[in-house]
Amino acid sequence: MAGDKLSKNLEEIRARIKQAAERSGRKQEEIELIAVSKNHPVAMIEFFREKGVNFFGENRVQELLEKDGQLAGVNWHFIGHLQRNKVKQLLRLENCRMIHSLDSLRLAREINQRAEQYNKIIPVLIEVNVAGDLNKFGLAPNDVFDFVQLLQQFKNIELKGLMTIAPYVANPEKVRPFFQKLSLLREQLWAKGYHFKELSMGMTNDYEVAIEEGSTMIRIGSGLFE
Ligand SMILES: *Cc1c(COP(=O)(O)O)cnc(C)c1O
Repeated sequence: MAGDKLSKNLEEIRARIKQAAERSGRKQEEIELIAVSKNHPVAMIEFFREKGVNFFGENRVQELLEKDGQLAGVNWHFIGHLQRNKVKQLLRLENCRMIHSLDSLRLAREINQRAEQYNKIIPVLIEVNVAGDLNKFGLAPNDVFDFVQLLQQFKNIELKGLMTIAPYVANPEKVRPFFQKLSLLREQLWAKGYHFKELSMGMTNDYEVAIEEGSTMIRIGSGLFE
């Protein structure tokens, strides 16, 4: 493991977060870095924890559980597509801090039921398919309003915000409208009385644009670990 390289990656990303925040009149503390550790060894997670990275994202339950077994007290964010038959294992973990990928009522029902069983309230984000990409999960933007209302019945789910994965394009300026759309959706929900603040948007290729458009959580994998 090349520690120098990882240190440099982290320094660069922190500097660029700060610059993007300043460009848009925001503070860097408003943006949480989620280090996406999928496909990378636990030694790297330990390295970044020592450098003050507080949250780690995984997209497969099995891999998250295996890593959790080798490390103590990592704050996990689950960011991948979640199958209902994996919810139980995930929610049994005390230190699964957030699910970014709620995308159906059936999944919400299962999450709520398991959270109740383990006597906890789990923070979640609704995944929104802002680009209408057929290969991606997530609700259509117009369906989010009804969905948020339906979620009110689930007492063990705490809605914290919205998440999206923008299409990969070489020029990140091209995905700015998708981030604007997610941000607007949060404003529209706010106006209807649904007050939540998180916008999980931005990955290695496009996080600076996402920050300029109001992201509060960026999910960075390759830019940190490779
Ligand atoms: C892998 C992954 C990321 C990180 O992607 P990079 O381009 O490597 O930064 C972010 N979000 C989700 C949902 C992912 O699956």
